[in-house]
Amino acid sequence: MKAELIFTGTELLLGHILNTHAQYLGAKLSGMGIEVDLNTTVGDNRETMIDVLRQALDRSSLIIITGGLGPTTDDITVEVVAEVFGLPLILDQVSLKAIKRIFQSRSAIMPESNVKQAYFPRGAIILPNNVGTAPGAILEIGNKIVMMLPGPPHELTYMFEDAVTPYLAGKTGGSEVIRYRVFKLTGISESAVQDLLKDLGGQGNPGIAYMAKPGEIQVRISARGADSGQADALLADFAGKVRSRVEKYIFACDEAVLEELVGKLLLERGLSIGVAESCTGGLIAARLTDIPGSSAYFKGGVVSYSNEMKNRVLGVDIKILDSFGAVSRETAEAMAAGVRAGTGADLGLAVTGIAGPAGGTAAKPRGLVYVALAAGDITICRGHHFPGIRMAVRQGTVNASLNMVRQYLLDKA
Ligand code: ATP
Ligand code: MG
Repeated sequence: MKAELIFTGTELLLGHILNTHAQYLGAKLSGMGIEVDLNTTVGDNRETMIDVLRQALDRSSLIIITGGLGPTTDDITVEVVAEVFGLPLILDQVSLKAIKRIFQSRSAIMPESNVKQAYFPRGAIILPNNVGTAPGAILEIGNKIVMMLPGPPHELTYMFEDAVTPYLAGKTGGSEVIRYRVFKLTGISESAVQDLLKDLGGQGNPGIAYMAKPGEIQVRISARGADSGQADALLADFAGKVRSRVEKYIFACDEAVLEELVGKLLLERGLSIGVAESCTGGLIAARLTDIPGSSAYFKGGVVSYSNEMKNRVLGVDIKILDSFGAVSRETAEAMAAGVRAGTGADLGLAVTGIAGPAGGTAAKPRGLVYVALAAGDITICRGHHFPGIRMAVRQGTVNASLNMVRQYLLDKA
């Protein structure tokens, strides 16, 4: 079943509100195995709405229209649908009673304009609204389904869960199941990820999609099957193939939050951490302390942006800074040891790098970052070349350094 969504409301076009229905409905429908093919946003304009609905009917079997079910003159969705199908509007007594009851419960008299909300095209299935006045409706004509859902987000989500989900499950026969896995990668560009994976496929089944965020590339894998067993099996097999190709860049999966994973591992192992940050300016400490309860394992951090701070606060030898430079393996390792000693933590994590845009040289280009971890009686250090703008280099560094801690703690198990 191919779906098309029409969002009505001039306020959406003017940018006064964000179209959260697009995100909500897109996620819900695709989760049910219904492919959303096209979204259109249209103002509260009769002619344009009629046009858009006619076009939608030409190409899609399921059309969901949101908004415009209210009592005011700019709420015209029901009229537009009735006109396009050439159907009369019929007063639904049950809906009218329900609307009246809402006003009674507020000790108010129902304004005449609200009567309008109880009119629907003949033959429509009416969806009661238990959290607002506007009922919704479904019209089935031939092989086309048109849904009219209310604009206020809490009403839309209520109605979708309460009435639309069971209705659609009946239509699709619960026949197709779609499963997703998201791999979050860092330290590699979007095009480089694609090059590593492109022969595995694109939009088919299973499918791969890519999304780039600063310092992070998300690879989303989808698998469809006749039932959950089939979809799960296909996903597991395909995810394994994808994972094996990009394993070293993966720092988290699905909904997992890296700093939470690190926190849990530190708690399990009874270990604490201190951080020394140069190019990230405190972002690592911020991420670690985003997690409630992080005081149980996070000792503290130093933002040692200058050489002077690296020397005075972290005890990095001036000779190291002079001979290898602030951005070097040697400095990163000394920073890690220094912050570990200074905070008394079990693990000392340090980063130093060139976030750019300026400051790069041929030998030490923009995006070069060293991450060091002092733990037990070893210090490990890894050099990275992060692609992209300053923000991407900084966020990539945070992800890579927290991932280094995660890997260390997992290996220690
Ligand atoms: P009402 O009875 O409140 O008039 P309605 O069904 O006529 O409801 P609209 O008038 O289109 O719906 O929208 C009502 C409110 O719902 C808007 O002011 C807006 O805040 C919110 N809304 C509408 N569409 C969206 C959307 N796509 N995304 C997020 N919010 C929306
Ligand atoms: Mg309205």
